[in-house]
Amino acid sequence: MRINLICPTCAKAAGGVGTWFIDTIRADGLYTGKCPNGHDLLIGTQTLSHEMLFEIALNAIIDGYNREAVSSFTASMERYFEFAIRVFASKSGVNANLFTEAWRIVSNQSERQLGAYVFLYLTEFGMPPKLLGEKMTKLRNGVVHKGSLPERNDAIEFGNAVHEVIQEGVRQLRSTLVDQVNKAIGENVSRIAEKMGTTYPRSFQVTSTALNIIDDMSTGYKPFAQILRERGIPM
Ligand SMILES: [Zn+2]
Repeated sequence: MRINLICPTCAKAAGGVGTWFIDTIRADGLYTGKCPNGHDLLIGTQTLSHEMLFEIALNAIIDGYNREAVSSFTASMERYFEFAIRVFASKSGVNANLFTEAWRIVSNQSERQLGAYVFLYLTEFGMPPKLLGEKMTKLRNGVVHKGSLPERNDAIEFGNAVHEVIQEGVRQLRSTLVDQVNKAIGENVSRIAEKMGTTYPRSFQVTSTALNIIDDMSTGYKPFAQILRERGIPM
């Protein structure tokens, strides 16, 4: 995905003022390449997987790839479930290595992950989580399993539904498990940092995404309609 990045070497030369450039980052949240002035860079982003996938889905709508948008919104929701499961496990003091082992058992089957999310959520909050309704589930299955080609309106409606599932869940998590949420964010950064090695000057950046759990902590939630407006996507 293409995102805004700052070169720390250029920023230092400019007396600490960073100038943005746009380039493509990898799936693991890392950017390795050169800034417009030719400095070698290794940049890690703190963006969570589900936030990045949501962004990719929005870009797909802008580019007219509605099928890819539905597929990426689906992936975003599934990675949010994983994030939430990590938060619940952290609440119960589950050791990170044991979590990794257990995750391996469910890692290839999203229905198992959904099951874990539903019951951990129910146990923690005393009510079932918000999930996709029947119509949106049918749309998703058509796209993922039957190769159907959704209209632009379908992709937007689906994005709105996924936005509600994720934001409602995050709101609940934040309300009582904010320490565990922060810990899960920190662990995400550590997992990215582990892959960075020491070759180039390293830096971490917070990229601006529609769903941003860090922004959300301080400034509240952006409605989906506002996200579409900001991207210039007519409803
Ligand atoms: Zn530079």
